[in-house]
Amino acid sequence: MGISKQLKLETKVVHGYKGYDQYTGAVSFPIYQSATFKHPGLNQTTGYDYSRVQNPTREELENTIANLENGKHGFAFSSGMAAISTVLSLFEPGQHIIVSDDLYGGTYRLFEEIYRRYGIEFTYVDTSRIHEVEQALRNTTTAIFIETPSNPMMKVTDIALTAALAKSRKILTIVDNTFLTPYFQRPLELGADIVIHSGTKYLGGHNDTLAGFIVVNDDDIAERIKLIQKSEGAVLAPFDSWLILRGIKTLAVRLEKQQENALTIAKWLQNHKKVEKVYYVGLSDHEGYEISRRQASGFGAMISFSVKDTALVEQVLKRVQVIMFAESLGGVESLITYPIVQTHSAIPEEMRRRIGVTDKLLRLSVGIEAVEDLISDLEQALD
Ligand SMILES: *Cc1c(COP(=O)(O)O)cnc(C)c1O
Repeated sequence: MGISKQLKLETKVVHGYKGYDQYTGAVSFPIYQSATFKHPGLNQTTGYDYSRVQNPTREELENTIANLENGKHGFAFSSGMAAISTVLSLFEPGQHIIVSDDLYGGTYRLFEEIYRRYGIEFTYVDTSRIHEVEQALRNTTTAIFIETPSNPMMKVTDIALTAALAKSRKILTIVDNTFLTPYFQRPLELGADIVIHSGTKYLGGHNDTLAGFIVVNDDDIAERIKLIQKSEGAVLAPFDSWLILRGIKTLAVRLEKQQENALTIAKWLQNHKKVEKVYYVGLSDHEGYEISRRQASGFGAMISFSVKDTALVEQVLKRVQVIMFAESLGGVESLITYPIVQTHSAIPEEMRRRIGVTDKLLRLSVGIEAVEDLISDLEQALD
């Protein structure tokens, strides 16, 4: 059962897995707002017993995300961090994980302030340079955790190359695919073992719902994740599952428009006299442009840029009108963020300086508004 794997992604996002209600024909998949399910008899089940274990609406979403990532097993969580925490629960004290040094601040905080206390060790390197990953390998290394493009410096890690190195050492490759989504990039196809998402971002797409995902192919890993999911219980609620299913239906059109807007804005910013440097993977002079073209079908809609004068930061954040000064990304509304005080405040200053997160760096999540309006907004804010 379920929609054909052969269909194009633009079709898959619209039709989900089962897609519609098999009982009534409702074209919107129902919200099964029930905590528990009546047993037909002793030792009998409808397939659903208790919603922490499985709920039909969450299951539809889990099958949909698995289908989009071209993976076998999908899992939905109450947030991206809950998904990442579940993946970390696969590891044991004494094990070592190599991590992209330019990454979401909350992930760094989870690793350093929670999982380090349980004896898991982390080394942060620039994973876009494979020799740095090789040099960080230890006998106890069990996984490589990458974010690509990275947040907020937009560095691109070669997923296939990293996965090949990991396979040769029999260790896992974990990819946070939040920035590109399966519409543009499918890490499992490139050899990764575990894909993670903050579904709060592009998958939901409307800045209204928190969600997280894990997708894997391996049946054993899937079984262990299922055990952690039902035991720890950070599952996605039925209504929130439905909201994300609805968001996913427009993923393809949103991303196409957001990417088109982002490229126009990135080029405009490059020519602005008060802008020092623009970081957008879709610019042909970007360091990761070629790798990106090889491993992804798009560049996404996240731009970082540094202004020449720190004093401009406060002015821009105060003056923007269409673009909102708010944390998060991926939604239809354009948002501007100041990484050093928002998303990356948990990263130590020394590490921030090394990766390039300065007090002059701003991050823009480009939405679906008219690009002319976004540019005039930035123009008056920078003026
Ligand atoms: C937002 C984000 C997360 C965390 O997800 P939440 O849904 O906020 O818990 C993890 N990774 C990346 C790349 C993110 O942007």
